[in-house]
Amino acid sequence: MTTPELAHKVCELRPLLPKHACVNGKGSTFAAVIQHTPIIHLLEHVVVDILTEQSSATDKIFVGTSEWVDYDAGRGRVEVSYCDDLEAIAAFKSAEELINTLL
Ligand SMILES: [Zn+2]
Repeated sequence: MTTPELAHKVCELRPLLPKHACVNGKGSTFAAVIQHTPIIHLLEHVVVDILTEQSSATDKIFVGTSEWVDYDAGRGRVEVSYCDDLEAIAAFKSAEELINTLL
């Protein structure tokens, strides 16, 4: 799970994260849950943030979902929309590195 400290650190690097539209039980943006949400949910939003920033398709809106596959084993699934598979793979790798660096 994220913590307020992790949320603060990641928002310093990705300041638009709290403004992402987000389907959750507490509000309409990611800000409502960013301080206490599964890491895979954070990964989803960081990937979307990177895709939005880096994609050559400037008029596209990227969306994602995340869910636990096996919560006890710490395995989850994150899916995102994308225009270019290589950009999507690079975004996942960058997001993973960012989060692992902060953890
Ligand atoms: Zn969300």
